[in-house]
Amino acid sequence: MIYDQILVRYGEISTKGRNRKAFTKKLRENILMVLKDMPEIKISATRDRLHIYLNGENGEEALKRLSSVFGIQSYSPVMKTEKDMEKIKDAALHLVQKSHKEGQTFKVSARRADKTFALDTNEINYAVGSHVLKNTEGLTVDVKKPDIKLNVEIRKEGAYLSSEIHPGAGGMPAGASGKAMLMLSGGLDSPVAGYLIMKRGVEVEAVHFHSPPFTSERAKQKVIDLAKTLSVFSGRIKLHIVPFTEIQQTVHNQVPENYTMTSTRRMMLRITEKLRERHNGLGIVTGESLGQVASQTLESMLAINEVTSTPVLRPLISMDKLEIIDIAKQIGTHDISILPYEDCCTIFTPPAPKTKPKSDKIQYYESFVDFETLIEQAAADTELLVIEGGMLQTENDDLDELL
Ligand code: ATP
Ligand code: MG
Repeated sequence: MIYDQILVRYGEISTKGRNRKAFTKKLRENILMVLKDMPEIKISATRDRLHIYLNGENGEEALKRLSSVFGIQSYSPVMKTEKDMEKIKDAALHLVQKSHKEGQTFKVSARRADKTFALDTNEINYAVGSHVLKNTEGLTVDVKKPDIKLNVEIRKEGAYLSSEIHPGAGGMPAGASGKAMLMLSGGLDSPVAGYLIMKRGVEVEAVHFHSPPFTSERAKQKVIDLAKTLSVFSGRIKLHIVPFTEIQQTVHNQVPENYTMTSTRRMMLRITEKLRERHNGLGIVTGESLGQVASQTLESMLAINEVTSTPVLRPLISMDKLEIIDIAKQIGTHDISILPYEDCCTIFTPPAPKTKPKSDKIQYYESFVDFETLIEQAAADTELLVIEGGMLQTENDDLDELL
């Protein structure tokens, strides 16, 4: 007795009219990506459903992974048995007992596509229903509004049974709303920002600024681990690691201490902007939350944001730290984020950064160095990592192919 297929119901995407085809295509790609190591799996689409044919692959594992794929409203495993009433009754009992809670009601709903089968639908309903009732404590029948509806379908090649309905992650399939660059630090906020924006159907490519030797390999590994954790929601994520040491040191030498943070952020944004252009992104995502720290005042955002006209998306802007921490725990990034390895910004953070930086001042301070050349260089020397199915796939040897 094994799962034969998983039935996937779309959520919001089926309401999107003419976009539906593109959305279904993305959803299907994303599902195939999270099930990449299960090569026998095949997917077919109907108007408002996808059928994932397991062909012998591990159904329990596939069910677990589907829970994080955006764009799925709900999904149900379907069991296949031989067309033998004893086998069907056993399978039915197994399915009901897996999800049943004391006091619930149920109903069997049989369909007989194979008319040569000995029993008709009423007889199947009765035989299966009475077997399940007899063997399950605290279960009663309700044909109008049952808690558990057990579907039994008799076809030529076998009998199919389903009852469980798993809630999906909701939202829209990652990539269906285009792509944006996620500025991913090792902190708590930016991974959560990435998750929330992915849920709205945006594919993210992460960008991380790394300043060796001031920041260690372990700090970089932490960001890779965060990207891996985020990749379960889309199946795949690209991570750009930008060498940032020289720019950071130059800012440090050039700009008065209380303005270094503002200037550093502007440089990050300018580089991210270059990468966005190069990789056809449509926006930039950050983990900023209003008032959280000195750099996250409106005055500060104005001075930083000035360097680009690309939409900067800030999904956490109005959230409290505790709400952000809750989500981080849910999505599995919290425990990675709180590891102590230094971030490039922590090291260079001045004791008293300006909370109300003036943009004419910052422009003046930055005007003595040809930052544009340094920025071009950093963007050109950026390392690209690709994470697929939770695994790091490609170091930058294959960079040219991927670009
Ligand atoms: P986080 O928890 O995401 O690190 P934060 O509260 O520490 O955020 P800041 O240090 O002010 O806030 O950073 C604001 C945003 O700038 C971050 O959320 C992130 O999007 C981006 N950022 C900061 N440092 C880096 C970095 N080293 N690489 C990439 N992005 C960064
Ligand atoms: Mg941080």
